[in-house]
Amino acid sequence: MKKLWKCGVCGYKMESVEAVGDCPKCGSPQDQFAALSEEDAKKVYDSYVTNDIHMEIIGYLEKIIHLSREGAEINLDPGCLDIFKKAEAACYVIKEMSKAEIAGHISKGKW
Ligand SMILES: [Zn+2]
Repeated sequence: MKKLWKCGVCGYKMESVEAVGDCPKCGSPQDQFAALSEEDAKKVYDSYVTNDIHMEIIGYLEKIIHLSREGAEINLDPGCLDIFKKAEAACYVIKEMSKAEIAGHISKGKW
């Protein structure tokens, strides 16, 4: 049965039945890897999809923020400017919330 192994030096994770070779990220020897408990491995697997969703949302929000700034620069009329400024502000809040959520996941091993 495959386990999830984590490098004790850099945190790199890999799936394998047995302990694996040197860490591909930091080069630490195999003995630096420890198998995660089933509970900890479940946290990691459960977080894969939600972390990816957060990152994709952040990408969309960045695009909206960029478009809003572009629209605000044109400054066609007060109505447009108001909407672009509100869109930028709202997207910034959601983007920062998603980033904070991902940071929380990482600090709890859900990454
Ligand atoms: Zn490593």
